[in-house]
Amino acid sequence: ANVVPDATTTMVCGFCATGCGLNIHMKENEAVGLTPATEYPVNLGMACPKGWEALTPLQAKDRATAPLLREQRGGQLEEVDWDRAMVVFCERIKEIQAKHGKESVAFLSTGQIVAEEMAFLGALSKFGMGMKHGDGNTRQCMATAVVAYKQSFGFDSPPYTYQDFEESDVIVLIGSNLCIAHPIMWQRVERNPHNPEIVVIDPRKTETAVAATQHYPIAPKSDLVFFYGLARLLLEKGYVDHKFIAAHCEHFDEFEKHIAQFTPDEVEKRSGISIAQLDQLAETIGAGKRVSFWWTMGVNQGHEAVRTAQAIINIALMTGNIGRPGTGANSITGQCNAMGSRLFSNTTNLLGGHDFSNQADREKVAEALAMNPELIPTETGWAYDQIIEGIHAGKIKALWVVATNGSHSWIHQEQYREAMEKLDFLVVQDMYATTETVEQADLLLPAAGWGEKDGVFINSERRIGLVKKVAKAPGSALSDFNIFRLIAQYWGCGEMFSRWSSPEHVFRILTKISQGQPCDISGIDSYRTLDELGGIQWPCRPEDVEGLTQDNQRRLFSDGRFFHANGRAKFLFSDPVEVAEPTDDEFPFILLTGRGSSAQWHTQTRTKKSAVLRKLYPQSIYVEVHPEDAEKLGIEPNDTITVHSRRAEVTVTAMVTPTVQPGQLFMPMHYAKTNQLTKASFDPFSRQPSYKFCAVRVVR
Ligand code: SF4
Repeated sequence: ANVVPDATTTMVCGFCATGCGLNIHMKENEAVGLTPATEYPVNLGMACPKGWEALTPLQAKDRATAPLLREQRGGQLEEVDWDRAMVVFCERIKEIQAKHGKESVAFLSTGQIVAEEMAFLGALSKFGMGMKHGDGNTRQCMATAVVAYKQSFGFDSPPYTYQDFEESDVIVLIGSNLCIAHPIMWQRVERNPHNPEIVVIDPRKTETAVAATQHYPIAPKSDLVFFYGLARLLLEKGYVDHKFIAAHCEHFDEFEKHIAQFTPDEVEKRSGISIAQLDQLAETIGAGKRVSFWWTMGVNQGHEAVRTAQAIINIALMTGNIGRPGTGANSITGQCNAMGSRLFSNTTNLLGGHDFSNQADREKVAEALAMNPELIPTETGWAYDQIIEGIHAGKIKALWVVATNGSHSWIHQEQYREAMEKLDFLVVQDMYATTETVEQADLLLPAAGWGEKDGVFINSERRIGLVKKVAKAPGSALSDFNIFRLIAQYWGCGEMFSRWSSPEHVFRILTKISQGQPCDISGIDSYRTLDELGGIQWPCRPEDVEGLTQDNQRRLFSDGRFFHANGRAKFLFSDPVEVAEPTDDEFPFILLTGRGSSAQWHTQTRTKKSAVLRKLYPQSIYVEVHPEDAEKLGIEPNDTITVHSRRAEVTVTAMVTPTVQPGQLFMPMHYAKTNQLTKASFDPFSRQPSYKFCAVRVVR
């Protein structure tokens, strides 16, 4: 209907980590439509299809509108009121903790809720309820970048601003299909006035590879060998900034010795990239004045992902491409608040990027929270995969899942689903009553979604942006923030959180906790300042605020000083190792997984609610097969075929296309069946799942 808005407010989109500003048009305090914000410093006045449709999923018929309880396994979820839900939640969890120990209850959260809610969940569960183990679905996307940066730079610190896309003369995209995964960032590449070389390193001929000036279709998971070989060649050709290395780095000599074995011959044999092509890439990088390296899931979701990310970091360091406009070793984040989770979820780090095992850090956080430091665990809890293993081993008996859908998205899905069945108590807190994980829940707590609550997200370039309540949550659904407040009260630790009365109060507490850290945001005094400035990148100390304008853009390391105590960045490396499941005669194809289209998001719990978005991608699951393989196997386009792995077999539609190389298949992650096939294997440092390689066969 033609509703005439009576007000407009600007807030950040709730899907991906680009963090676009959206103008929400209101009528009588309710959102009635949106348009991309033209003044917001992130999105150039544009939004991708998901952003344009961001309000639609709030209206879905399957919204969770009241708490639902399954009294007995095998029974139905039945509506109960909040009092009953809270009593059951607290009684069951306390009972399990009394019988099996406090550590027998864990949580799994998300990069999709606001930072204030993440902090509340982390503090309530670990300081109030005595849990030790909790992790987020950010383990599936960003854990690798976190560890890589921490080890190399001394802190989890993506160094760039989005303007670097426009200021580079060579843009190297690794395992990133920027065109569809981060389409607004891609617009910046297109707007680059320097006629840049656009290099894509990716096994698939993705949309981004097609648009690039150079594409290197490396063999899946040969990336570590490839980058060591490239580093060797850059060194041999003299494209190395020895002055920068001497002034700002350490362990380069050891790195130089390590890479000597990765000759161009060896790289060609392992990666399929010819000596001449490798040479061309080295020349391109060597000739570049401002070279930027960007990576995402193709790197992060690998069996040696941290070392691969660091191999990229090493190349940026050795060529002096960091800290200057148009440069950087830049991890592009996935979810809207993955960076918030990295810093404020109280999972891998103590709140504010602090360390659980450091007494001074524990005391500092306890003081900011006015609580007893003894309540803070002295070590980091288990990672996501360890929690699932802990359930299988009978050590974890209850799980609280907040705003994530692991029964669809976790690697080797059956293992995850079996784990959920083994639990004594599974609580799911979600916007929707129909996700695959909710199907297994004993208790569903109905949550408000993006647009129905206040708080902040932190985007890929470290920009803290505001989200606002522009719509009412349906039925008796509550914001995650208010659910946590209610739990604190029923649990009996309400006093500890008496100051946590609103998201903005918690934001102020977080700014205090961040003081003195690389991610110091103590200069941001209120939501209003964020609103006025169109978001602010961290760090933002009091002295940084003065003079900040709407187009504020800041990068890290412009003084060449990194976050390790000695100020130096480290060259880190290891010997490459074999993937967990190489192909063989029985399973001769490599299965790759990834993003399908710019209209789909994760497990589609939100994007499939939009009729507009549904028109933009195939509704049934498909697999990309190279024409040569299709011919050999007698597969025609749109045939129904079966893909088998050692774990499952799934029926899919064949898409015959040269986007994949012979011997490789690709399936989008958005369809539930894909992760029935994948093999649970993990990077040893980040424990991020290795979604990008498993062995399969195809039967017509
Ligand atoms: Fe939202 Fe990301 Fe699309 Fe921007 S690019 S509108 S943040 S989903």
